[in-house]
Amino acid sequence: MKIIPIRDAESLPIPHATTPDGPLFDRRGRTVRDLRISVTDRCNFRCVYCMPREVFDKDYPFLPRTQLLSFEEIVRVARVFVARGVRKIRITGGEPLLRKDIERLIEMLARIDGVELTLTTNGVLLPRMAQTLRDAGLHRVTVSLDGIDDAVFRRMNDADYPVERVLEGIAAASAAGFEAIKVNMVVKRGSNDQEIVPMARHFRHSGHILRFIEFMDVGASNGWKMDEVVSSRDVVARIAEHFPLEAIDPNYAGEVAERWRYVDGGGEIGVISSVTHAFCASCTRIRLSTEGKLYTCLFAQRGHDLRSLLRGGADDHAIDDALAGIWTQRDDRYSELRTAATAAAPKIEMSYIGG
Ligand code: SAM
Ligand code: SF4
Ligand code: SF4
Repeated sequence: MKIIPIRDAESLPIPHATTPDGPLFDRRGRTVRDLRISVTDRCNFRCVYCMPREVFDKDYPFLPRTQLLSFEEIVRVARVFVARGVRKIRITGGEPLLRKDIERLIEMLARIDGVELTLTTNGVLLPRMAQTLRDAGLHRVTVSLDGIDDAVFRRMNDADYPVERVLEGIAAASAAGFEAIKVNMVVKRGSNDQEIVPMARHFRHSGHILRFIEFMDVGASNGWKMDEVVSSRDVVARIAEHFPLEAIDPNYAGEVAERWRYVDGGGEIGVISSVTHAFCASCTRIRLSTEGKLYTCLFAQRGHDLRSLLRGGADDHAIDDALAGIWTQRDDRYSELRTAATAAAPKIEMSYIGG
C-alpha cells in the first residue's frame, strides 16, 4: 500500500535514483537524517512568539487523546526512518515533558541502535524529571530560555514562570549527567533583544552552549514581522562588543547553528539564521506531528497522514514505501523563498509540529 503525497509532483527531475532500502534523496539531492517527533500540542507556557495567549486560550481545540500517536506507533515509524538513514531523533512539542509517561517513550526509542536521541523542553519540569530521562537513555537535552531578567522572561513565556525555575531545570539536567546542554533563546526585537548580552554573560564559562534563534514566521498566529527579527550578524556583533568572538568550524557538514567561541576561552555560542541566511540546501529534517502527519518542511501547509496507514494494518514495508514516496517528492525550500506574502500565508503552528 502506498500513500500519495498531498502536494502535486512538480516538474523537477529526481536527481538520484532510489534503491529499495538504500538512502533516500529528495528532489534537491538531500537525504533524510533528522526526525523530529512532536508528542503533544499542549504547553504550560504561552510564549508570545509561539502560542500567543489570545489565540491559544481555553477554547483552543487542542488534539483529543485518541488522535495522538501511541508510543508503539511512534517507535514503529522511527525504526523505519532509521533504516532509511535517520541518525538523530528529537522529541519536541508543545512541551514534551507534559506527555504522560514520556520516559517510557524515551526508553523505547533509546533501544534503536545508531541514533542520537535528544529532547527540547522549556525546562520547568526538569528538576523532577531530568534523572529519569537520563536513566531512560536520553542522550542530550536542549532547554529554551528567552532572557535572564525575570520580568522580561515572564513577559516572554506569558505564564508567569520565573527564570529561576528554568535555571533549576538546567542544573538538574547537568547533575543528571547531560553534557554540553544547549540553551535556546529566540530573539524578538523590542521584546527581549536587550537580553542578548546578559544571557551571553550568564552562560559564559558555564559549559552550556547558548544559541540564538532568529524569530521565524511559523504558524499563523504570532504576528511575525520582518522588522522584529534581529539578525544573527547583529547578535554576534552585540556580544563581540563586550566579549570578543571568533568563528569556529561546524561539527559536521550541514550543521544548522553557526558556531562562535569566546576568544578568552569562555566557551562557545551558536546562531541560527533561519531568516537571514537560509540553510534549506542542506536541510535533512522531517517532522512527525502529534497526530501522525509527516511534514517535510517547518513551513509546510499540509502534512501526509501516516496514522491512517498505521491504524489500517499496514506493515513496515508499506510504511517504508510511504516514506520513500514522500521524501523523494520533497522539494521544500521555504526560507530561501520567503517574502512578506509567503510570511502572511497560513501555516501549521510551531506548537503542533514541534520546533
Ligand atoms: N516547548 C519546548 C521548548 O520551548 O523548548 C519545545 C517545543 S518549542 C516549539 C521548540 C523550539 O522552537 C523552542 O526553542 C522555541 O523557542 C522555538 N520557537 C518557537 N516558536 C518560534 C518562532 N516563532 N521562531 C523561532 N523559534 C521558535
Ligand atoms: Fe511552549 Fe515551547 Fe512554544 Fe514556548 S516555545 S509556547 S514553551 S511550545
Ligand atoms: Fe528545511 Fe523548510 Fe526550514 Fe528550509 S524552510 S531549512 S526546507 S524546514
